[in-house]
Amino acid sequence: MKRKILVLVCVAFGLLLPAFSQTYDVVIRGGRVMDPESGLDAVRNVGIRDGSIAAVTADELAGKSVIDATGLVVAPGFIDLHSHGQDAENYRYKAMDGVTTALELEVGVWPIAPWYAAREGKALINYGAASGHIPACIAVMGDSGTFLPRDKVISETPTAEQQTQILADVEQGLREGGLGIGMGLAYTPRETPADILRVFELAARTRRTVFVHMRAPGGLTPGVVDSLQEMIADAAITGAGVHIVHINSMANKLTPVALEMIRGARAHGVDVTTEAYPYTAGNTFIESGVFNAGWQRQLDIGYGDLMWVATGERLTEESFDRYRKVGGSVILFTNTEEMVRMAMADPMVMIASDGMLAGGKGHPRSAGTYARLLGVYVRERKTLTLMEAIRRASLAPAERLEAASAQMKRKGRVRVGADADLVVFDPGTVIDRATYERPGEYSFGFRYVMVGGKLVVRDGKLDEAGMPGRAVRGDALQ
Ligand SMILES: [Zn+2]
Repeated sequence: MKRKILVLVCVAFGLLLPAFSQTYDVVIRGGRVMDPESGLDAVRNVGIRDGSIAAVTADELAGKSVIDATGLVVAPGFIDLHSHGQDAENYRYKAMDGVTTALELEVGVWPIAPWYAAREGKALINYGAASGHIPACIAVMGDSGTFLPRDKVISETPTAEQQTQILADVEQGLREGGLGIGMGLAYTPRETPADILRVFELAARTRRTVFVHMRAPGGLTPGVVDSLQEMIADAAITGAGVHIVHINSMANKLTPVALEMIRGARAHGVDVTTEAYPYTAGNTFIESGVFNAGWQRQLDIGYGDLMWVATGERLTEESFDRYRKVGGSVILFTNTEEMVRMAMADPMVMIASDGMLAGGKGHPRSAGTYARLLGVYVRERKTLTLMEAIRRASLAPAERLEAASAQMKRKGRVRVGADADLVVFDPGTVIDRATYERPGEYSFGFRYVMVGGKLVVRDGKLDEAGMPGRAVRGDALQ
């Protein structure tokens, strides 16, 4: 009799064991799973264990906690390649806009190691940066600017020794985990084409992509066409990849030409990609090289097309001169809706915010880019499909970085083995709320946002109990 009971207990335990081992940390149940890599678009249950996706199935799954995603879309968390705001405030806005990885790849940072160390264990979402050519120039040349150059880098040509040091610093940043090389030629106008070519050589040698704000916008010479020719030529000459940031605000009326150039270069084997944000206005600092003499002709705008971020006022010649001496953030109304729509419609164009808020002030793109993409350009205007929008906001940026960072192969996908960086949103209501007047408004409609298996947005509200954001770094240089 005793033996019989023992056998029964063993059988029962044996049956239960697999059931226990199949209990997931979290199950996202019954959502419309959209995976841009496989094309999966179907109702599925997603099981998450140890921060990774462990099951994507139509079968029932048991979880220690269960999220009901009925009627909601489950997609990879968005990867923002161009996110200047890299502090707690900005990470909150990003999380509420569906972003699970925010990367500062345009300006980049320098030095790299302390920047990563400062965020370790303290970030709501994943973070990373390029090794910044601009901050290296600021450091080597003793410019007084902090984020962007404001004097020496704009007015003085670097000596040969300085140039060597800048290159060495940028390379050091790559050794310390920089994801690529960040450049902004409009902000370092004294760098010669030959100097820039050296940076591309470094990128090719280290197999990193150059993320660049080009030399000049608009239809003059220099303008977007010759700026783009320079970048494509440098990429073709060296074999480096180049990513053209915010093609919308560089090309403006010439958006069709710029897209044609990028498409043509790609068709002929040049590794060139691009990105845009869904707004007609740009944003930069009034003291920067963008506003050097001749800016009105270059940008094809006047004083009244500038908005001073601190007060929301439109500028005049008098207030422009006054504020340029002080320095600060300014919004530039340069583009048309037609051109923005063209960029959003193009399958080549990734989505990136170029965002940065300080005390809730700045450009609405910082808080609203991804909700605006889904709410305005997918749902209202039908400029692109939902799957296509998801792809260009998650998988495409991940793929752009995979050659430099193996970590990115686990992001931008809803598949077994990928990081559990996920967004769960209502495609019928998701919408941006940030405006030029009120840029610090959270987006609406992202019901759950998960970073490495931990919720940072729960039922539409921030959950800052954990700080699950992890560093995304470039692989060791060979
Ligand atoms: Zn820029």
